[in-house]
Amino acid sequence: MKVLVINTGSSSLKYQLMDMDNEISLAKGLCERIGFYDSVHKYYGKDNYYNKTTKNIKNHLEAIDDMLSYLVNEDYGVIGDINEIDAIGHRVVHGGEKFSKSVVIDNYVLDGIRDCIDLAPLHNPANIIGIEACLQEMPDTPMVAVFDTAFHQTIPMYAYIYAIPFELYEKHAIRKYGFHGTSHKYIANRTSEILKKPLDQINIVSCHLGNGASICAIKQGKSVETSMGFTPLSGLAMGTRSGTIDPALISYIMEKEHMTAEETTNYLNKESGVLGISGVSSDFRDLLKASSEGNERAKLAINVFAYRVKKYIAEYIGVMNGIDALVFTAGIGENNALVRRLITKEMEYMGIKLDVAKNEQAVGIEMNISKKEANVQILVIPTNEELEIARECKIVLNI
Ligand code: ADP
Repeated sequence: MKVLVINTGSSSLKYQLMDMDNEISLAKGLCERIGFYDSVHKYYGKDNYYNKTTKNIKNHLEAIDDMLSYLVNEDYGVIGDINEIDAIGHRVVHGGEKFSKSVVIDNYVLDGIRDCIDLAPLHNPANIIGIEACLQEMPDTPMVAVFDTAFHQTIPMYAYIYAIPFELYEKHAIRKYGFHGTSHKYIANRTSEILKKPLDQINIVSCHLGNGASICAIKQGKSVETSMGFTPLSGLAMGTRSGTIDPALISYIMEKEHMTAEETTNYLNKESGVLGISGVSSDFRDLLKASSEGNERAKLAINVFAYRVKKYIAEYIGVMNGIDALVFTAGIGENNALVRRLITKEMEYMGIKLDVAKNEQAVGIEMNISKKEANVQILVIPTNEELEIARECKIVLNI
């Protein structure tokens, strides 16, 4: 059975065709700068085939068309006909309180995704465009929506309600939602497999540390707390996002820097985080290099990042009354041994004991990096959101 996984941004399309009999990727690709004269289509096919073309891709419909022509191409395609695609899984960023699990897409679901546009004005419209383009090109192929927020719908009310007047929740649905749910869910399932224990018998702290970063407390397989909130701006200090700050700072910054509300939000989303602190880069590879060359602000940014992660881990261990596994994933979590070492330093009291040598070896691979005698297993697990989406399709469609 073959599942096509689609992730559309406002000017991008990411896709991956999965063979779900063996859970392997057959081909994947990325269209960027859709709507621009110089759009780029990168395609990775069978036998390490790679192709990059620059051309004008006017809209998402054309991008989908282009993708399909690559997938069925005689020379480097991976299927003979688009009818070989049994299902399409769409990543949808926000499902609000309407969607607590993945669902088959029909008109009612599409309306529901539209109803959540207010909550994710940059993302949901792009996701809808992707779905509509696929509906046009492949009207008979079943489609499933997989929401970034759905996994966190098990968070209890006392954890998702902000301490502001309750009417704001009732009137505007203002509450914590959380994101990266597909990744945290994949991590939960994989951890259960690695530890050889049923999911409902283990507690996990999952640290998704990429450009966007979030931590999730997973108690017996269910998300009970997460660091992102109403939007993906809160929680950890990220590549360019501030994470949680004193809320009174917003009006203070507006006044002192003569900024509008929109400019301030942009400032906190795009010019803050480790980029803002270091003045060097949002990319940890650049920060590590600058820090090793003596740049004090780059060093400070790395320390701020690690310190915040450490605090969340401790908090979530408290929330769950202990954990079985602490997991690191995404770009930084999977590759950056120094950051993992800083985060886990002096956490022995909580059962966290890092094997420093194993930690250094764990770069982009799945590995247990805790000391043998430790109570808590520290795992590095490369995340696989596409596989998780394809699995959801299989489950929801029962195929
Ligand atoms: P996103 O998907 O949110 O854009 P990623 O999960 O790709 O982000 O993570 C990007 C981050 O991971 C960057 O800060 C990058 O420096 C870091 N990263 C990726 N590969 C490595 C590596 N080999 N060593 C250190 N950091 C890395």
